[in-house]
Amino acid sequence: MDVLGNYKSVIAARSTDRDILKKSQDGGIITTLFAYALEEGIIDGAIVAGPGDEPWKPEPMVATTKAELLAAAGTRYTISPNLALIKEATRSYGLDRVGIVGVPCQVQAVRKAQLYPIGLRDVDDKIALVLGIFCMENLSYQALEAIVEDHCNQKMESVRKMDIGKGKFTVYTERGAVSQMPLKLIHKYVQPGCHVCLDYVANLADISSGSVGSPDGWSTVFVRSTKGNTVWDGAIKAGLFETKPMDQVKPGLDTVKKLATDKITKNQKNVDARKTVGLKGDGTPKGLRNPYESP
Ligand code: FAD
Ligand code: SF4
Repeated sequence: MDVLGNYKSVIAARSTDRDILKKSQDGGIITTLFAYALEEGIIDGAIVAGPGDEPWKPEPMVATTKAELLAAAGTRYTISPNLALIKEATRSYGLDRVGIVGVPCQVQAVRKAQLYPIGLRDVDDKIALVLGIFCMENLSYQALEAIVEDHCNQKMESVRKMDIGKGKFTVYTERGAVSQMPLKLIHKYVQPGCHVCLDYVANLADISSGSVGSPDGWSTVFVRSTKGNTVWDGAIKAGLFETKPMDQVKPGLDTVKKLATDKITKNQKNVDARKTVGLKGDGTPKGLRNPYESP
Protein backbone atom coordinates (compact mmCIF):
# COMPACT_ATOMS: atom_id res chain seq x y z
CA MET A 1 0.00 0.00 0.00
CA ASP A 2 1.08 3.52 -0.69
CA VAL A 3 2.34 5.43 2.38
CA LEU A 4 -0.64 7.76 1.97
CA GLY A 5 -3.18 4.88 1.94
CA ASN A 6 -6.07 4.57 -0.48
CA TYR A 7 -7.96 7.71 -1.31
CA LYS A 8 -10.41 8.98 -3.89
CA SER A 9 -9.19 12.56 -3.93
CA VAL A 10 -6.82 14.89 -2.12
CA ILE A 11 -7.27 18.62 -1.98
CA ALA A 12 -6.18 21.73 -0.07
CA ALA A 13 -9.14 23.27 1.77
CA ARG A 14 -10.20 25.83 4.33
CA SER A 15 -13.54 26.35 6.06
CA THR A 16 -15.62 29.34 4.97
CA ASP A 17 -16.99 29.66 8.53
CA ARG A 18 -15.12 32.48 10.32
CA ASP A 19 -16.24 31.35 13.81
CA ILE A 20 -14.78 27.92 13.16
CA LEU A 21 -11.53 29.31 11.73
CA LYS A 22 -11.02 31.39 14.89
CA LYS A 23 -11.05 28.26 17.06
CA SER A 24 -9.74 25.52 14.77
CA GLN A 25 -6.16 24.33 14.47
CA ASP A 26 -5.70 24.58 10.72
CA GLY A 27 -8.37 24.86 8.02
CA GLY A 28 -11.22 23.87 10.37
CA ILE A 29 -11.95 20.75 8.34
CA ILE A 30 -12.95 18.49 11.23
CA THR A 31 -15.24 20.95 13.02
CA THR A 32 -16.89 22.07 9.78
CA LEU A 33 -17.51 18.51 8.60
CA PHE A 34 -19.02 17.44 11.92
CA ALA A 35 -21.19 20.60 12.05
CA TYR A 36 -22.42 19.84 8.53
CA ALA A 37 -23.00 16.16 9.35
CA LEU A 38 -25.01 17.13 12.45
CA GLU A 39 -27.09 19.60 10.47
CA GLU A 40 -27.80 17.06 7.73
CA GLY A 41 -28.65 14.23 10.15
CA ILE A 42 -25.69 12.15 8.91
CA ILE A 43 -24.64 11.92 12.57
CA ASP A 44 -26.52 12.81 15.71
CA GLY A 45 -23.41 13.40 17.78
CA ALA A 46 -19.63 13.40 17.46
CA ILE A 47 -16.98 12.17 19.88
CA VAL A 48 -14.33 14.88 20.06
CA ALA A 49 -11.51 15.93 22.41
CA GLY A 50 -13.24 18.42 24.69
CA PRO A 51 -11.65 20.66 27.30
CA GLY A 52 -10.70 18.87 30.53
CA ASP A 53 -10.19 19.96 34.15
CA GLU A 54 -6.55 20.84 33.62
CA PRO A 55 -5.35 23.27 30.93
CA TRP A 56 -4.71 21.53 27.59
CA LYS A 57 -5.64 18.12 29.01
CA PRO A 58 -8.42 16.86 26.74
CA GLU A 59 -11.49 15.05 27.99
CA PRO A 60 -13.38 13.09 25.34
CA MET A 61 -16.90 14.42 24.95
CA VAL A 62 -20.00 13.83 22.87
CA ALA A 63 -20.83 17.01 20.95
CA THR A 64 -24.38 17.33 19.68
CA THR A 65 -24.32 21.05 18.82
CA LYS A 66 -22.05 23.36 16.86
CA ALA A 67 -21.24 25.23 20.11
CA GLU A 68 -19.96 22.00 21.65
CA LEU A 69 -17.91 21.25 18.54
CA LEU A 70 -16.38 24.74 18.77
CA ALA A 71 -15.49 24.18 22.43
CA ALA A 72 -13.49 21.11 21.36
CA ALA A 73 -11.87 22.60 18.22
CA GLY A 74 -8.07 22.86 17.95
CA THR A 75 -5.31 20.36 18.66
CA ARG A 76 -4.23 19.10 22.08
CA TYR A 77 -0.86 17.43 21.62
CA THR A 78 -1.58 14.67 24.08
CA ILE A 79 -3.70 11.56 24.25
CA SER A 80 -7.46 11.99 24.21
CA PRO A 81 -9.01 8.54 24.61
CA ASN A 82 -11.97 9.32 22.34
CA LEU A 83 -12.78 5.64 21.77
CA ALA A 84 -13.55 5.21 25.45
CA LEU A 85 -16.83 7.05 24.82
CA ILE A 86 -18.11 4.96 21.90
CA LYS A 87 -20.29 2.63 23.95
CA GLU A 88 -21.58 5.45 26.14
CA ALA A 89 -22.38 7.56 23.06
CA THR A 90 -24.85 4.93 21.91
CA ARG A 91 -26.13 3.84 25.34
CA SER A 92 -26.19 6.91 27.65
CA TYR A 93 -26.51 9.52 24.90
CA GLY A 94 -28.76 7.28 22.77
CA LEU A 95 -27.00 8.15 19.51
CA ASP A 96 -27.84 6.01 16.48
CA ARG A 97 -25.30 7.69 14.17
CA VAL A 98 -22.00 8.41 15.85
CA GLY A 99 -19.21 10.58 14.45
CA ILE A 100 -15.71 10.21 15.87
CA VAL A 101 -12.37 11.93 15.32
CA GLY A 102 -9.03 10.39 16.15
CA VAL A 103 -5.36 10.13 15.37
CA PRO A 104 -4.44 7.27 13.00
CA CYS A 105 -4.08 4.56 15.70
CA GLN A 106 -7.52 5.47 17.05
CA VAL A 107 -9.03 5.30 13.59
CA GLN A 108 -7.47 1.83 13.20
CA ALA A 109 -9.00 0.83 16.54
CA VAL A 110 -12.45 2.01 15.41
CA ARG A 111 -12.16 -0.12 12.26
CA LYS A 112 -11.01 -3.12 14.30
CA ALA A 113 -13.98 -2.62 16.61
CA GLN A 114 -16.27 -2.61 13.58
CA LEU A 115 -14.74 -5.86 12.30
CA TYR A 116 -14.54 -7.59 15.70
CA PRO A 117 -17.08 -5.86 17.95
CA ILE A 118 -16.03 -7.73 21.09
CA GLY A 119 -17.69 -5.91 23.97
CA LEU A 120 -19.27 -3.46 21.53
CA ARG A 121 -22.39 -5.33 20.48
CA ASP A 122 -24.88 -3.04 18.68
CA VAL A 123 -22.30 -0.27 18.59
CA ASP A 124 -20.31 -1.14 15.46
CA ASP A 125 -23.13 -0.41 13.03
CA LYS A 126 -23.83 2.95 14.66
CA ILE A 127 -20.45 4.43 13.72
CA ALA A 128 -21.50 6.76 10.93
CA LEU A 129 -18.53 9.03 10.19
CA VAL A 130 -14.88 8.51 11.09
CA LEU A 131 -12.61 11.54 10.66
CA GLY A 132 -8.85 11.20 11.07
CA ILE A 133 -6.14 13.73 11.86
CA PHE A 134 -2.54 13.23 10.73
CA CYS A 135 -0.11 12.31 13.51
CA MET A 136 3.67 12.00 13.57
CA GLU A 137 3.93 11.35 17.32
CA ASN A 138 2.08 11.96 20.57
CA LEU A 139 2.91 12.96 24.14
CA SER A 140 1.71 12.14 27.63
CA TYR A 141 0.17 15.09 29.46
CA GLN A 142 3.17 15.23 31.82
CA ALA A 143 5.51 15.40 28.82
CA LEU A 144 3.45 18.19 27.24
CA GLU A 145 3.56 20.09 30.52
CA ALA A 146 7.34 19.69 30.74
CA ILE A 147 7.78 20.91 27.17
CA VAL A 148 5.56 23.97 27.63
CA GLU A 149 6.64 24.93 31.14
CA ASP A 150 10.29 23.85 31.31
CA HIS A 151 11.45 24.23 27.71
CA CYS A 152 9.19 27.01 26.44
CA ASN A 153 8.95 28.76 29.84
CA GLN A 154 5.20 29.34 29.62
CA LYS A 155 2.45 28.39 32.04
CA MET A 156 -0.03 25.87 30.63
CA GLU A 157 -2.97 28.06 31.63
CA SER A 158 -1.55 31.04 29.73
CA VAL A 159 -1.35 29.20 26.40
CA ARG A 160 -3.77 30.14 23.59
CA LYS A 161 -2.51 27.71 20.95
CA MET A 162 0.17 25.09 20.40
CA ASP A 163 1.38 24.09 16.97
CA ILE A 164 3.88 21.79 15.31
CA GLY A 165 5.30 22.77 11.96
CA LYS A 166 8.43 23.68 10.04
CA GLY A 167 10.58 21.66 12.45
CA LYS A 168 9.41 23.59 15.55
CA PHE A 169 7.03 23.17 18.48
CA THR A 170 5.43 26.59 18.98
CA VAL A 171 3.46 27.96 21.91
CA TYR A 172 1.35 31.12 21.55
CA THR A 173 0.16 32.73 24.78
CA GLU A 174 -3.01 34.72 25.47
CA ARG A 175 -0.83 37.83 25.99
CA GLY A 176 0.80 37.53 22.57
CA ALA A 177 4.13 35.87 23.47
CA VAL A 178 5.52 33.19 21.15
CA SER A 179 7.92 30.49 22.41
CA GLN A 180 9.51 27.84 20.24
CA MET A 181 11.70 24.80 20.61
CA PRO A 182 13.21 22.55 17.95
CA LEU A 183 11.02 19.54 17.27
CA LYS A 184 13.97 17.19 17.56
CA LEU A 185 14.16 18.00 21.29
CA ILE A 186 10.68 16.64 21.94
CA HIS A 187 11.45 13.22 20.48
CA LYS A 188 12.67 11.89 23.83
CA TYR A 189 9.22 12.61 25.30
CA VAL A 190 7.28 10.67 22.64
CA GLN A 191 4.93 7.85 23.71
CA PRO A 192 6.61 4.41 23.32
CA GLY A 193 3.81 3.10 21.09
CA CYS A 194 4.42 5.88 18.59
CA HIS A 195 7.83 4.40 17.78
CA VAL A 196 6.17 1.42 16.05
CA CYS A 197 3.33 3.30 14.39
CA LEU A 198 3.13 2.89 10.63
CA ASP A 199 0.31 5.29 9.76
CA TYR A 200 0.81 9.06 9.38
CA VAL A 201 -2.33 10.18 7.56
CA ALA A 202 -5.15 8.07 9.09
CA ASN A 203 -5.40 5.70 6.15
CA LEU A 204 -8.63 4.08 7.39
CA ALA A 205 -10.69 7.21 8.05
CA ASP A 206 -13.62 8.23 5.85
CA ILE A 207 -11.86 11.59 5.52
CA SER A 208 -8.48 12.52 7.01
CA SER A 209 -6.79 15.87 7.33
CA GLY A 210 -3.71 17.68 8.58
CA SER A 211 -1.83 20.88 7.95
CA VAL A 212 1.21 19.44 6.26
CA GLY A 213 1.36 19.95 2.50
CA SER A 214 -0.87 23.03 2.50
CA PRO A 215 -0.19 26.73 3.19
CA ASP A 216 -0.64 28.16 6.72
CA GLY A 217 -4.30 28.23 7.74
CA TRP A 218 -5.21 25.62 5.13
CA SER A 219 -5.45 21.82 5.40
CA THR A 220 -4.64 18.86 3.22
CA VAL A 221 -7.75 16.66 2.95
CA PHE A 222 -7.85 13.01 1.85
CA VAL A 223 -11.31 11.82 0.89
CA ARG A 224 -11.02 8.06 1.31
CA SER A 225 -14.29 6.11 1.46
CA THR A 226 -17.59 6.22 -0.43
CA LYS A 227 -19.20 7.63 2.73
CA GLY A 228 -16.44 10.23 2.97
CA ASN A 229 -16.99 11.18 -0.65
CA THR A 230 -20.71 11.72 -0.16
CA VAL A 231 -20.15 13.87 2.91
CA TRP A 232 -17.35 15.88 1.28
CA ASP A 233 -19.35 16.50 -1.93
CA GLY A 234 -22.35 17.64 0.12
CA ALA A 235 -20.20 20.03 2.20
CA ILE A 236 -18.61 21.48 -0.94
CA LYS A 237 -22.03 21.96 -2.58
CA ALA A 238 -23.20 23.72 0.58
CA GLY A 239 -20.31 26.20 0.18
CA LEU A 240 -18.60 25.18 3.42
CA PHE A 241 -15.06 25.06 2.04
CA GLU A 242 -12.75 27.02 -0.24
CA THR A 243 -10.51 24.59 -2.10
CA LYS A 244 -7.37 24.56 -4.24
CA PRO A 245 -5.90 21.65 -6.22
CA MET A 246 -2.92 20.13 -4.38
CA ASP A 247 -0.63 20.68 -7.38
CA GLN A 248 -1.28 24.43 -7.07
CA VAL A 249 -0.29 24.80 -3.40
CA LYS A 250 3.05 24.78 -1.64
CA PRO A 251 4.69 22.79 -0.15
CA GLY A 252 2.35 20.24 -1.77
CA LEU A 253 1.67 16.54 -1.68
CA ASP A 254 5.33 15.52 -2.07
CA THR A 255 5.99 16.89 1.42
CA VAL A 256 3.15 14.81 2.89
CA LYS A 257 4.54 11.78 1.10
CA LYS A 258 8.08 12.48 2.33
CA LEU A 259 7.01 12.81 5.98
CA ALA A 260 4.84 9.68 5.76
CA THR A 261 7.72 7.75 4.20
CA ASP A 262 10.17 9.02 6.85
CA LYS A 263 7.84 8.02 9.69
CA ILE A 264 7.09 4.58 8.28
CA THR A 265 10.72 3.81 7.37
CA LYS A 266 12.01 4.83 10.80
CA ASN A 267 9.29 2.99 12.69
CA GLN A 268 9.47 -0.14 10.52
CA LYS A 269 13.10 -0.44 11.70
CA ASN A 270 11.84 -0.38 15.31
CA VAL A 271 9.23 -3.04 14.49
CA ASP A 272 11.95 -5.22 12.92
CA ALA A 273 14.27 -4.67 15.90
CA ARG A 274 11.51 -5.70 18.32
CA LYS A 275 10.99 -8.92 16.40
CA THR A 276 14.66 -9.83 16.95
CA VAL A 277 14.21 -9.59 20.74
CA GLY A 278 11.23 -11.92 20.83
CA LEU A 279 8.40 -9.47 20.31
CA LYS A 280 6.06 -9.41 17.38
CA GLY A 281 5.93 -6.07 15.61
CA ASP A 282 2.85 -5.08 17.60
CA GLY A 283 4.50 -5.85 20.94
CA THR A 284 2.75 -9.21 21.47
CA PRO A 285 5.28 -11.81 22.75
CA LYS A 286 6.02 -14.49 20.15
CA GLY A 287 3.87 -17.59 20.60
CA LEU A 288 0.90 -15.59 21.91
CA ARG A 289 -1.85 -14.80 19.47
CA ASN A 290 -2.81 -11.17 19.03
CA PRO A 291 -6.60 -11.29 19.64
CA TYR A 292 -7.14 -8.96 16.71
CA GLU A 293 -5.47 -11.25 14.19
CA SER A 294 -7.44 -13.86 12.27
CA PRO A 295 -6.63 -17.36 13.55
P1 FAD B 1 -10.33 21.38 14.04
O1 FAD B 1 -11.54 21.92 13.39
O2 FAD B 1 -9.48 22.27 14.87
O3 FAD B 1 -10.75 20.11 14.87
C1 FAD B 1 -9.80 19.28 15.46
C2 FAD B 1 -10.55 18.10 16.05
O4 FAD B 1 -9.62 17.16 16.58
C3 FAD B 1 -11.47 18.52 17.18
O5 FAD B 1 -12.69 17.86 17.05
C4 FAD B 1 -10.71 18.10 18.42
O6 FAD B 1 -11.57 17.80 19.49
C5 FAD B 1 -9.97 16.88 17.93
N1 FAD B 1 -8.72 16.66 18.68
C6 FAD B 1 -7.89 17.59 19.18
N2 FAD B 1 -6.87 17.02 19.83
C7 FAD B 1 -7.05 15.69 19.72
C8 FAD B 1 -6.34 14.57 20.19
N3 FAD B 1 -5.22 14.70 20.90
N4 FAD B 1 -6.81 13.33 19.90
C9 FAD B 1 -7.96 13.18 19.20
N5 FAD B 1 -8.69 14.20 18.73
C10 FAD B 1 -8.24 15.44 18.99
N6 FAD B 1 -1.10 17.35 11.44
C11 FAD B 1 -0.10 17.39 10.52
O7 FAD B 1 -0.32 17.90 9.41
N7 FAD B 1 1.13 16.83 10.76
C12 FAD B 1 1.43 16.26 11.98
O8 FAD B 1 2.54 15.74 12.17
C13 FAD B 1 0.42 16.24 12.98
N8 FAD B 1 0.65 15.69 14.19
C14 FAD B 1 -0.35 15.68 15.13
C15 FAD B 1 -0.10 15.07 16.38
C16 FAD B 1 -1.12 15.00 17.34
C17 FAD B 1 -0.83 14.32 18.66
C18 FAD B 1 -2.40 15.54 17.05
C19 FAD B 1 -3.51 15.44 18.07
C20 FAD B 1 -2.64 16.15 15.83
C21 FAD B 1 -1.63 16.22 14.86
N9 FAD B 1 -1.86 16.79 13.60
C22 FAD B 1 -0.85 16.81 12.66
C23 FAD B 1 -3.21 17.27 13.23
C24 FAD B 1 -3.37 18.78 13.30
O9 FAD B 1 -2.76 19.30 14.48
C25 FAD B 1 -4.87 19.16 13.32
O10 FAD B 1 -5.52 18.49 14.40
C26 FAD B 1 -5.59 18.78 12.04
O11 FAD B 1 -4.97 19.46 10.94
C27 FAD B 1 -7.07 19.16 12.10
O12 FAD B 1 -7.19 20.58 12.07
P2 FAD B 1 -8.59 21.24 11.71
O13 FAD B 1 -8.41 22.73 11.77
O14 FAD B 1 -9.16 20.64 10.49
O15 FAD B 1 -9.46 20.68 12.90
FE1 SF4 C 1 -1.18 6.93 17.59
FE2 SF4 C 1 0.73 6.63 15.84
FE3 SF4 C 1 0.02 9.09 16.57
FE4 SF4 C 1 1.32 7.56 18.26
S1 SF4 C 1 2.11 8.31 16.30
S2 SF4 C 1 -0.54 8.72 18.74
S3 SF4 C 1 0.54 5.50 17.79
S4 SF4 C 1 -1.22 7.59 15.46
